[in-house]
Amino acid sequence: MGVPRYTPVWVIAVAAILTGLILFEAVGPVYGIALFVVAIAGYFAIRHYRERHPPEPPGIRCLKCGQFLPATARNCDFCGSASWTYRN
Ligand SMILES: [Zn+2]
Repeated sequence: MGVPRYTPVWVIAVAAILTGLILFEAVGPVYGIALFVVAIAGYFAIRHYRERHPPEPPGIRCLKCGQFLPATARNCDFCGSASWTYRN
């Protein structure tokens, strides 16, 4: 038996619950619930935004025909050109 090197999950859970309770007590139930609702709403808003605007995958673009290619491509699959540029 010794001091565990990793943080157990229950410690994180207890810390999160205590933090939530202290915050709830500090700002009062109305603002506590409001903060909770805003946090949930923000989470879903970000998820919704990410679904509509997914981040562009990294890749390169052919200088000759403009075809988007995977980042590992050495030359264009479509026109065979070895000239490409980083997509910006
Ligand atoms: Zn090309």
